[in-house]
Amino acid sequence: MSYSPLLVRLIDGLRCMPGVGQKSAQRIAFHLLERDRDGASNLSSALADAVSSIGHCNRCRMFTERDLCAICSASGRDAALLCVVESPADVMAIEDATGYRGMYFVMMGHLSPLDGIGPEELGLVKLEEWLVGGDVAELIIATNPTVEGDATAHYLADLATRLKVKASRIAHGVPLGGELEFVDSGTLAHAFYGRRAID
Ligand SMILES: [Zn+2]
Repeated sequence: MSYSPLLVRLIDGLRCMPGVGQKSAQRIAFHLLERDRDGASNLSSALADAVSSIGHCNRCRMFTERDLCAICSASGRDAALLCVVESPADVMAIEDATGYRGMYFVMMGHLSPLDGIGPEELGLVKLEEWLVGGDVAELIIATNPTVEGDATAHYLADLATRLKVKASRIAHGVPLGGELEFVDSGTLAHAFYGRRAID
């Protein structure tokens, strides 16, 4: 016995979400159909709108449905400070935890040669152009303190050195192997302001 074709399609579709296997997908599908059809409709239209309209900011690569994201188009931010992070969630974490008013560059990942993710995939050509532009006095490297995050930080520091831009990396307070998104705001703020220059 198998489920109806539409139900099979729904369950297969739900499995594209990270951490959702066959059993979880079934449970979610049954829940939506039995208990929350309004929620399911909202989710469906939100997904369709997001997928068709959300792209990347032309400047910093943040997710946005406009050419420039809210931070890049805001007046009063300090263009001399540019903070490089791995994910959009890191931008939100730093905005919430610190008084930082500079700009961001969102790599949407980290260097991972084995997965075929190199500088090009992370948009680092765009970052280089930004640094060459001459507005940036300090590149703040806020990659995760993981093996890949460290390797990416070294790459970024070398890039900054080559372009004669001062580079710093957020330091103590962030647990090794942790991800910025999950660090409490006090710890993240401390790490952010404790950043030091990279030799
Ligand atoms: Zn932007």
